[in-house]
Amino acid sequence: MDARTVAVVTGASRGLGKALAEQLLGAGARVITIARSHNPALAEIAQRHGAPLQQVLADLSQPESIETAAGMMSAAIPADGTRYLLLNNAGTVDPVKRADELFDAKAVEKAFNLNVVAVMVLTAAFLRTTPAQADRRIVNVSSGAGRKPTRGWGVYCATKAALDHYTRVLADEHPDLRVAALAPGVIDTAMQQHIRGSDQRQFPDLDRFIQLHEGGQLASPESVARRILNHLVSDAFGNKLLDDIRNY
Ligand code: NAP
Repeated sequence: MDARTVAVVTGASRGLGKALAEQLLGAGARVITIARSHNPALAEIAQRHGAPLQQVLADLSQPESIETAAGMMSAAIPADGTRYLLLNNAGTVDPVKRADELFDAKAVEKAFNLNVVAVMVLTAAFLRTTPAQADRRIVNVSSGAGRKPTRGWGVYCATKAALDHYTRVLADEHPDLRVAALAPGVIDTAMQQHIRGSDQRQFPDLDRFIQLHEGGQLASPESVARRILNHLVSDAFGNKLLDDIRNY
């Protein structure tokens, strides 16, 4: 990877997205990030590697803000790349509530906006902006929760299942693209910390997640990011549409 690679990473202010952006910058790629908060550490890394970085600040749970972010992303994408990567990584597990408690339409809508709508709109902008003859690859960071029902995660499971199925349509419509919905496994990030703080009445699997953490079974964001990036640029990427990084 080098400066001919242009990468867009959503949710790069922390967690898996931050590790992905750091490693892309370290490899010399030109990187555009989208999240609500600025990450000064990323700016330092970019400076150290002489790699151009643009951090777009946007709330991807709000439709108007998604469209603005898509416009800013398009404006920031250079035309002279040979490889363009879109890593749709930003996501939320909230609201964590069982079906009979899901009265809050706004909270459900925000989750769908971030986990699904933003992916669709950013993908549309990415497809329109990047040259069709370039090597274009999109990874949608999914979850095992989209493929296996989890009590208390009705919203999260539904958004990730929607993301998986959207990925299938995208691949069908655009055989020129390489695309996959990739489950990353259980990673030691703020999202896992948040999950461990869940109300057990709403999330009966709580103990399993506490035990995974206590047993040191969470992967580091850096190790997962490395595996995702190695896979993303490999010839195998896109051969399996609904995939899991633990297969590689
Ligand atoms: P995380 O630590 O919570 O980080 C989430 C990222 O998304 C942050 O950079 C956050 O930035 C951004 N984000 C959240 N809400 C946003 C909003 N409204 N607008 C724009 N950006 C927003 O999560 P993570 O664990 O790294 O998860 C990354 C991806 O992996 C997610 O799609 C998640 O579903 C998936 N995943 C994670 C695990 C796991 O074990 N951690 C397992 C399976 C799948 P700001 O707060 O600055 O906006």
